[in-house]
Amino acid sequence: MPKGLKKLVQIVNVLSAANRPNLIQQLQSETFDLVVIGGGITGAGIALDAAARGMKVALVEMRDFASGTSSKSTKLVHGGLRYLKQLEVMLVREVGRERAVVHTLAPHLVTAEKMLLPLIEGGTYGKWATSLGLLMYDFLADVQGIDRRRMLTREETLAEESLLRKDIIVGGGLYAEYRTDDARLTIEIIKTAAQYGALSLNYVKAEDFLYKNGKIQGVRCNDLINKEKFIIKGTFVINAAGPWVDKLRKKDQSLQGKRLFHSKGVHLVIPHEKLPLKHAVYFDVSDGRMLFAIPRLRTTYIGTTDTPYNGDLNHVLTTKADVDYILNATNQMFPTANLTMEDVESSWAGLRPLIFEEGKSASEMSRKDELFESESGLISIAGGKLTGYRKMAEKVVNRVAKKFKTQHNRDFEVCKTDKIQLCGGPFNGAAEVRDYKETICQRIRDLGLSDYYTHYLVANYGKQTDTILNLLPQSPSLLQAELHFCLHNELVFKPLDFFNRRTGRLYFNIQSIEPALDIILKDFQLYFNWDDNRLAQERVEVLEAIGEVSTFGR
Ligand code: FAD
Repeated sequence: MPKGLKKLVQIVNVLSAANRPNLIQQLQSETFDLVVIGGGITGAGIALDAAARGMKVALVEMRDFASGTSSKSTKLVHGGLRYLKQLEVMLVREVGRERAVVHTLAPHLVTAEKMLLPLIEGGTYGKWATSLGLLMYDFLADVQGIDRRRMLTREETLAEESLLRKDIIVGGGLYAEYRTDDARLTIEIIKTAAQYGALSLNYVKAEDFLYKNGKIQGVRCNDLINKEKFIIKGTFVINAAGPWVDKLRKKDQSLQGKRLFHSKGVHLVIPHEKLPLKHAVYFDVSDGRMLFAIPRLRTTYIGTTDTPYNGDLNHVLTTKADVDYILNATNQMFPTANLTMEDVESSWAGLRPLIFEEGKSASEMSRKDELFESESGLISIAGGKLTGYRKMAEKVVNRVAKKFKTQHNRDFEVCKTDKIQLCGGPFNGAAEVRDYKETICQRIRDLGLSDYYTHYLVANYGKQTDTILNLLPQSPSLLQAELHFCLHNELVFKPLDFFNRRTGRLYFNIQSIEPALDIILKDFQLYFNWDDNRLAQERVEVLEAIGEVSTFGR
């Protein structure tokens, strides 16, 4: 075993992959105040909120953290301008205000992004409606100062974004949003929850519930890595399983009344030089929908679709029809780009877990969250947005705290997650992130690497970048130092999870995976003592994932 790896195995962190046996042991031997099912943004937010109020929390995730919808979003922390058109004023107000809060909790990971809304003849929004709409959007979200919307003339719009189709542009609006990495945000919340004592573990599936006198007392789990079943005892159980929420409600025999509706959304990733946008752009499509095109370091990503989905929840794929739709729409708005399928490097397809509403199309259905409580006491939460995760968590944990009070006469503190900086910080705002980047920049240049790595590392890991760089003397490469950090701090059990949700490479730097694959597989093999069969299996898993996100002949 290389020297660096050995050292890491010895210092066992709570969220070190080497700590899995201890975590399993604790999960099955203790009784928790709250057991959360689902390690997406919703479950992670609930675990942090509850643990910070003093509850003893366990969280189980059946695959990797954020492997469901929470790594497949548009990666915007936004108020949702289009919901204003649907007159969802309260939703826009709540998530609009949340944007700024989430930004202060992790300013390295949730960064301000100006959004350009080009106005076209006969488009979704007219000039006056846009001006008024954006004004209201800013007002509801309490946007201040220079971040407030600015209306642009045709010439100003084209000067902001020269690639726009010139013959149809009549003006534009420039307004403030935030961008993030949804999977990293989820993982940092899981890590922050661990600092408050929450025990979270991935690759543990909740298969059924444990009942006493008709009331849920715990969860029957399956450790999908060691193939062992065990029980987690808990006073209350939360079902935060995203698109799988109804499957658990069915297990609890409480699937009555409102149900989930799955709407698929696809994004495509192309090299930035193929669509070298200066800004994120929110543009009209001829069918009346709107798409985002968002520059992100060496790429631009474009999405999303909104189509009903009835297929396998565990395997949602980008189809040729999805690719054709997005490319056609993009080529219509940015005609000189001439994008073809060959330009698409990667993609992702996710499911919105919406609450079904009779007579509405997928894109018309509300994004509001809703709580369901069954006779047995199972509390399920569905719907909602990445942006609103903290408020959703507050709502759920308030409900649990109330039940503790009435049923057990126990008191817990009020929600305080608006003050808890996430792992990777603390940073006192965007200016401090910029200063920190300066200190990292020189270290990265000294390694002979480009500034890309400074931006990438600080956005992904914040101040944990120092820890990663400090691992370099024992690690042959920066990527291996990143891996060692993730093994030691982020419960990473599979190479695909490392390439996808820890580093974002599967989507945003897909070509970098194959040249590094053998080295990374070897490090995993040494760390977990895998035999060659297991190694081969993991290799196939990575290669299949690369094929799935980058080829669309279906
Ligand atoms: P998930 O992330 O799916 O998490 C649920 C987890 O539960 C999964 O990881 C799953 O593996 C686990 N699970 C299921 N069953 C079990 C079980 N039996 N045992 C253990 N674990 C289990 N929101 C925004 O704010 N901004 C955006 O830009 C945005 N864009 C979007 C674009 C698209 C295309 C889509 C689809 C959604 C978008 N959203 C956006 C919405 C946002 O992504 C979702 O609301 C959010 O990610 C849902 O998180 P979740 O935790 O509820 O679900």
